Amino acid sequence: MEGIAVRLQALRKTFGETTAVAGVDLEIRDGEFFSMLGPSGSGKTTVLRLIAGFETPTEGRVELAGQDVTGLAPFERDVHTVFQDYALFPHMTVEQNVAYALKIRKVPKAERLVRARKALAEVRLDGHGRRRPAQLSGGQRQRVALARALVGRPRLLLLDEPLGALDLKLREQMQLELKALQREVGITFVFVTHDQEEALTMSDRIAVFHQGRLEQVGTPAEIYERPATSFVASFVGTSNLLRDDAARRVLGTGGTHSIRPEKIRVLKEAAIVDEPEHATATGTVAEVVYLGDTTRFLVDLDAGGRLTALQQNLETSAEDVAAYRGTRVRLTWHRRHTVHVPD
Ligand code: ATP
Repeated sequence: MEGIAVRLQALRKTFGETTAVAGVDLEIRDGEFFSMLGPSGSGKTTVLRLIAGFETPTEGRVELAGQDVTGLAPFERDVHTVFQDYALFPHMTVEQNVAYALKIRKVPKAERLVRARKALAEVRLDGHGRRRPAQLSGGQRQRVALARALVGRPRLLLLDEPLGALDLKLREQMQLELKALQREVGITFVFVTHDQEEALTMSDRIAVFHQGRLEQVGTPAEIYERPATSFVASFVGTSNLLRDDAARRVLGTGGTHSIRPEKIRVLKEAAIVDEPEHATATGTVAEVVYLGDTTRFLVDLDAGGRLTALQQNLETSAEDVAAYRGTRVRLTWHRRHTVHVPD
């Protein structure tokens, strides 16, 4: 069907006794930057491999651009996969690595060269075509792998933790570059990661996986601000839950509720919060962590339970912050930031 790049229907995959994918229904739209996020073992890589055709489903169906590809081999699908280890050929130059996919497809040599150079320019590696992979940094090797993926202009690019081998600074830089690149080329990207910040930074939409199932599919803001389950609330962002008796005392209602740390203000215990739409809870600062631009307060509530609050450091210093440990405080937040999460 028009507009849908990938459709998964009742997809299941078992390996012997292990159920890796336990029934997944999902639609990924054309041109989306779509991330599959979840802890190790949650099934996201298996779903990616099912889309690529490296695995056959035990049950269910995979459609690409409206075509049922469930029985097709990887090379019969208009898909390219970028792996974490890049899988570059060490004996070939960068240019040859990029042009290789075109060679297989019998594209004439002159055209191969032009297209390889264009792809290298897209990933900002012009001028590096004659080097061998060993003469490049990790980030540059990553870019070569991307150029190789882009040169054939697949409809769909699958990326399996492609930034996993990079150090944090480079990783953050590549996240922004990859997102910009995706916007520029307009190809649908399906990106596997276990890093929630990475998923929130880059994605148009995110699917959160847990034990082979989808817990929630939504935009980064929906996933973060409106977690659909307590698993999502604790896996994405800092887990900050008020449960049962504590929730009843503070909010006047039981169940499990999530409040994001940056929505909570830390006041002196004696402060008066005279706003009916604000919730408030007193407690003792158990721990305080100075993070440079922000400070994290861990507060044991008198009502039971513990909440984390994140405050911007406008005028405070590390010394001021340390003095908070053990002090009595009052936490307050707007009630609209309290999200009820079904267990
Ligand atoms: P990671 O981030 O660690 O790669 P993941 O979320 O991608 O985790 P999968 O790799 O999809 O998870 O694995 C899901 C489950 O299926 C795990 O329990 C894993 O051990 C199992 N599994 C995956 N591939 C195979 C295989 N070829 N044979 C047997 N079990 C497998």
